[in-house]
Amino acid sequence: MIDIKNYNDNNIFAKILRKEIPSECIFENDSIYAFKDINPQAPIHVLIIPKQKFCSFDDFCSKAEEKIIFSFMRSIKKVAEILGIKDGYRIISNVGINGGQEVPHFHIHLIAGKKLGAILN
Ligand code: AMP
Repeated sequence: MIDIKNYNDNNIFAKILRKEIPSECIFENDSIYAFKDINPQAPIHVLIIPKQKFCSFDDFCSKAEEKIIFSFMRSIKKVAEILGIKDGYRIISNVGINGGQEVPHFHIHLIAGKKLGAILN
């Protein structure tokens, strides 16, 4: 069962941040890292993560400094610009078991490149 209360340094995104496993970087700065999802659900599927350790969106909103939250939100738009997305996109953050979260390091999915269907299935 996924634990989103206690940060686990062995989660796959922590390993990506430490460069222990490869990833395809789209954008990076001091506080965020954006990379291609390994199992894309659309022509464009990028994950945006903070470099600091937060288990989930919930954890991020509770514990991150306001300036970090602000710059994280801005960085999502910057990544969309870098990707040259013109016709819109969807951002998703799965939280916990019912949210379908698999990796316990907070991340935003940025999905684009085709007309997307219903949000829920
Ligand atoms: P979530 O279910 O919201 O936790 O999403 C986790 C996402 O991480 C899924 O879309 C996976 O395809 C993606 N993922 C898992 N391992 C990797 C990896 N090594 N590199 C890139 N994306 C990954």
